[in-house]
Amino acid sequence: MKVGNLVGLVGWRGMVGSVLMDRMQTEGDFALIEPVFFSTSNAGGAAPLWTKNETTLKDAFDIDALKKCDIIISAQGGDYTTEVFPKLRAAGWTGHWIDAASTLRMNNDAVIILDPVNLPVIKAALSKGGNNWIGGNCTVSCMLMGVGALYKAGLVEWMSTQTYQAASGGGAQHMRELLTQFGTLNAEVRALLDDPKSAILEIDRKVIAKQRALSTAETTNFGVPLGGSLIPWIDKDLGLGKQSDEAGWGMSREEWKGMAETNKILGQGAAFGSVETPVDGFCVRIGAMRCHSQALTFKLKKDVPSADIESMIAADNAWVKVVPNTREATIKDLTPVAVTGTMTIPVGRIRKLAMGPEYVGAFTVGDQLLWGAAEPLRRMLRILLQA
Ligand code: NAP
Repeated sequence: MKVGNLVGLVGWRGMVGSVLMDRMQTEGDFALIEPVFFSTSNAGGAAPLWTKNETTLKDAFDIDALKKCDIIISAQGGDYTTEVFPKLRAAGWTGHWIDAASTLRMNNDAVIILDPVNLPVIKAALSKGGNNWIGGNCTVSCMLMGVGALYKAGLVEWMSTQTYQAASGGGAQHMRELLTQFGTLNAEVRALLDDPKSAILEIDRKVIAKQRALSTAETTNFGVPLGGSLIPWIDKDLGLGKQSDEAGWGMSREEWKGMAETNKILGQGAAFGSVETPVDGFCVRIGAMRCHSQALTFKLKKDVPSADIESMIAADNAWVKVVPNTREATIKDLTPVAVTGTMTIPVGRIRKLAMGPEYVGAFTVGDQLLWGAAEPLRRMLRILLQA
């Protein structure tokens, strides 16, 4: 059935929403839709400049106003979804809900959208009347954009991930806190840095003393200093497993998502009548701004030559780019600084590991606000408009 083009936009001025609006303008999406802008804080205010016929912001809690939309895209956050989505469906709305928040992600009637990887899963759900389309965890989405080819080929026996996740994963305030901490630390030793003869251990001593002395206000968002440090725990403690030697014990929610979402995106697992691929590892917050990076270890089901692995990865989609495993190419192209603000997903450091010919290592980087958040949403909009 043809989907109408009245599209409600909620959460459009937040961090993910702003990147989404930017991408929708760049790709000409607004030419295909009649947008209605909603707000949770400023109903009646002026709609953004790129609006068409609706000039004021609608109340994002007004179920009747939301019900008029054929499609709603929300980048507002989980609390909003929890409050509004059930009321909207209870009021009989059968439109398409596209959401950046994780609230509905693991529901049986929701598809995690990442169409370059799982278009068949999306199309199968669409043909059965599916109408809940949820963006995936940023780390998982960026990883699958990079190495999805190995999964599609059925080659992966298991995968272990060690992530290096950017401050932006926590939101705008987290990015600001990180930069403020860097400034505070720099200010603490500026005079010593300016003096080429100053002692490095004196600089080091002053920096660690300042890091340890940062106030509660200076660490509100991360809870501990991140500038010049790292935090090997992201999101909640799931409290899974009863004993310390059970798999799942002591796992963070971010780590849990790795296996749960990877398999759901790929259409694998009990809900699809198949076996899940084990995915596990550690998720670590580092002082990068908005790119998530990850070191991957694969146990493949058979020995595949590295050159073939590189070719498969390179041919998988238009955005993945294999970076040659040389020092020069790696430090130039495989860093958050190189990748931020681009749609490219570089995959490098591809090499066989010492454990045996089926063990392969790789490293990948992705802008978590683009492929990790905004892009799958606007691409789902396009899929619906073409359906
Ligand atoms: P955010 O920046 O906090 O924005 C959410 C909402 O906060 C905005 O839509 C806006 O709603 C309101 N807001 C209040 N003060 C604001 C201000 N000064 N500037 C802009 N907006 C302000 O949240 P987000 O990081 O974009 O995340 C949105 C959702 O996406 C969450 O569910 C998150 O889990 C999910 N997600 C985030 C990421 C990420 O990397 N951050 C990645 C994937 C998914 P009103 O206009 O209605 O007031």
